[in-house]
Amino acid sequence: MYVCGPTVSGESHLGHARPYISFDVVYRYLSQKKLKVRYVRNITDAGHFEEEGREAEDKVSTKALIEKMEPMEMVQKYTNLFHWAMKQFNCIEPSIEPTATGHIVEQINMIEDIIEKGYAYVVNGSVYFDVNKYAASYDYGKLSGRILEDLIESGNRDEVSRELEGQQEKKNAADFALWKSAPPEHIMRWKSPWGEGFPGWHIECSAMATKYLGAQFDIHGGGMDLLFPHHESEIAQSTICNHHAPVKYWMHNNMITINGRKMGKSYNNVIKLTEMFSGNHPLLEQAFHPMTIRFFILQSHYRSTLDFSNEALIASEKAFKRLWETYEHLKNLESSNIIHAGDEELDQKVNLWLNDFEESMDDDFNTARVIASMFEIAPTINSLKDGLIQMNALKSETIQKMKNLFSVFLEDVFGLKSMQENKSGLLAPVLELLLDIRKEAKQNKDFATSDKIRNQLAEIGILVKDDKNGNSSWTQN
Ligand code: ZN
Repeated sequence: MYVCGPTVSGESHLGHARPYISFDVVYRYLSQKKLKVRYVRNITDAGHFEEEGREAEDKVSTKALIEKMEPMEMVQKYTNLFHWAMKQFNCIEPSIEPTATGHIVEQINMIEDIIEKGYAYVVNGSVYFDVNKYAASYDYGKLSGRILEDLIESGNRDEVSRELEGQQEKKNAADFALWKSAPPEHIMRWKSPWGEGFPGWHIECSAMATKYLGAQFDIHGGGMDLLFPHHESEIAQSTICNHHAPVKYWMHNNMITINGRKMGKSYNNVIKLTEMFSGNHPLLEQAFHPMTIRFFILQSHYRSTLDFSNEALIASEKAFKRLWETYEHLKNLESSNIIHAGDEELDQKVNLWLNDFEESMDDDFNTARVIASMFEIAPTINSLKDGLIQMNALKSETIQKMKNLFSVFLEDVFGLKSMQENKSGLLAPVLELLLDIRKEAKQNKDFATSDKIRNQLAEIGILVKDDKNGNSSWTQN
């Protein structure tokens, strides 16, 4: 499986969370099914070209100039930040994480091959892919459903920007750069048969995917925004070099919108992941735990649109806490040795919902339906825990299956974990100490102190509950 990785010329934002979490779940699920998966996810650290119809621009170089950093210094900074964010989301590292700068030779070789086969041409030290020639024999636009005439039309429309961006170099507006000659001030540059320059963005993925996964591989993933021109161009390049289509299954996750709008700099609504985790952004009402964001993303199918709003995320946070509490109850249920269910109907229903976990995932990774089935089972677990349903209502086999499947799907496949990790860390002993002091204060009828402890803890989101016997416990809100 190949998944297009981040361009490390800036911090990852909420939009990046969706592909990497979605494909992490695909990776986890296939591995869970005992399939051997080689998961390749690249790092774009050179020559990321702007969107269609625009001339090539090296994002990494441009941003490095702005930040007054050595380009590789900046690449390292944002790569580290990206890895840190992935860790927060509990994403498993890919099997191979190749970088564009580490594969310049492979990219040059591939470009030479395309020129040799007659599908690319050299102009002033740059190399362009000849889309018209390709389209005469192959179906360019097959993946994205775009028609070549539309592409040429949109490329021709803006004459002014064409002049500015040197579009006149190309034979055709739809052609895309494989190699771009570097102007003298350009820092990131490599020697090539066509002079010094830097590679195109599309060729990077074709070269690395072919190197590590072969001429044809099973799954290629990425965001829907990469369908065109990036993936369409990957297909064209690899088809010319390898004589057949490179990918068996293309998977594209849909985008995250913010309050119904597309995320973009022009809308001023790009929320960085560090801002999501800290709550430090004008659009955010509070901080959101990485697990809340992960759960929020898995609550909808990866191909559906997903709209971010504070309300939606707060609802996800509550739902996730409820589900995790239920899971904790389930783990604590005592095992029995009931062979025949006391409540045959309930037992059957629970089994149907449990079987639905795998069926839903086999049906194009429908995480949303698995979560819905978990919520169908949750009231039964909670009632068993509260004694409202007798343990003998269900077969011990069913209870065991519930324990097993909740653990497999919540933790191993969905990669979710408790938001209260602190409970086992430093927070727990400190809170126990505070609750001890409070208990003593109450015994000494110093209610000012005991109330102060309870109220101030409540303010930072820790709720103290007293039971009838004068014992206290706490939960993190
Ligand atoms: Zn790519």
